[in-house]
Order: sequence, then structure tokens, then C-alpha cells
Amino acid sequence: MAILLTNDDGIHSEGLLALIKKLKDIDELVVVAPDSDRSSIAHAITLRRPLRLNRVSDLVLLDGCEEVYTCDGTPVDCVILGVSEVLKGKEVRAIVSGINRGLNLGIDIIYSGTVAAAMEGALLGITSVAISADSSDKTIFEEAASFIKDFLPELLKKGLPGHTFLNINYPRNPRGIKFTRQGYRVYSGRVLRYEDPWGRSCYWISGDVIEKLEYESDIWAVSNGYISITPLHVDLTNHDCLNSLREWFM
Ligand code: MN
Repeated sequence: MAILLTNDDGIHSEGLLALIKKLKDIDELVVVAPDSDRSSIAHAITLRRPLRLNRVSDLVLLDGCEEVYTCDGTPVDCVILGVSEVLKGKEVRAIVSGINRGLNLGIDIIYSGTVAAAMEGALLGITSVAISADSSDKTIFEEAASFIKDFLPELLKKGLPGHTFLNINYPRNPRGIKFTRQGYRVYSGRVLRYEDPWGRSCYWISGDVIEKLEYESDIWAVSNGYISITPLHVDLTNHDCLNSLREWFM
């Protein structure tokens, strides 16, 4: 039995190291993380080329954690290979994805590789948690990792419904916990055009954040200094609209 750790910021991320340091006290750990930053890659799976797993041997860097692998694929690839290859035949007690450098609020959930890795865990029937932190303060990763160390054993006692996982966002100096719903945070989709040295156009997708502080949303909680915990599931159906469509067209 082991806890599988992954992330989307890559193996060298401070947030991942903070999780390793804290969670090794509560269970055996296996780490499978991308070999470089794969942020904003969402739920992508590598199908058109083979993947490599490389075992990391720098045990000092990884605080004595021995089962650490990098993968040249996406965060979701890491979860799939972690469960079906590295931990083959073993029970995976939980998957923790993070700690992401930067919050994952509102529509970020759709783009985030951190969140997608936890979603893949939920699809595989494993208790899974994504955790992201306000990255403007270096000590925050340690704090957020301590929080997970205390929270995860309690969560495992209770369990989660099928195909459901948690998206946790950790602000600076939190003053408590709020259980929240996904809020409204989208991006303006600004595209910046540049010229390369040969005079050809190239583009940089950017965007300004547009958000609403709706009561009890993830954005509201973090803006008010609370740790936000949002239960998410993989069913994206708009049930109200489904009922309307049935009324209109049947
Ligand atoms: Mn990231």
C-alpha cells in the first residue's frame, strides 16, 4: 500500500518536495512526476509515441524517498504509469497531485494538469486530491504540505463518492477551511502578436483574469483567507439544460 504523488510543475518543483518531506511520515510514497513543467496541459494523454520512466537516484534531494520516477509525458500519463506499472499489483491508498505553484480556481480546473492528475485518479477509483498554493510566499508549500498530512488520513477514513475528487487551494496565512463550489474565473483570451527575427508573425496566448466573488465559491474562500476545498466530479452534464432540452424537443 502506498500514496502516489505527482504534479504538473515537474520533478524539480518545491511544492512536490514539500509533499515528499511531510507525507513520508504517514505512508510509503511513490513519486511519478513529469520531467519538466507541464502546466496547463489539462487531461492530455500521450498516445502517439512511447513513454519513458526514469528512476531518480538523488536521494538527498528527495529527502530519502526511494521510489521516485520522472516521466517524459503528461501528469495524467504519470498517474496511469504510476498505478499500472510502478505500483502494479499494489493497493494505491491515495493520489496527491501538487503542490501546484499558483492557485487553481474557477475555470483553471479545466486547464490544470494538477487537477487533471487527481481526476484521473478518481476515474481509477482511487481517493485523489489536487492541491495548489498561492506561490507568492516560499514557506507556503511547507504549510500546505502539513495541512495535507493532517487532512488526508481523515479523508481516507471517510472516503469520497465514486468519480469524485477534491480540489484544494491554499492561500497565504489561512484563517480556516471552507468547503466550496467551483467559482467563476475565466480569462479574456488575449493574444499577443510578435515578429520573430525573420519578420514572421508569432503569437503568445495570454489573458486577463475576470472573476466574480460569489459567496461560498472557491474564489470567494481564498480571497477571504480560507483554505478552499471543492469536491469535483467528472460528470460535466448541465442537468437543468438537459431537462429543458427534453421539454423543448421531445
Ligand atoms: Mn502547474
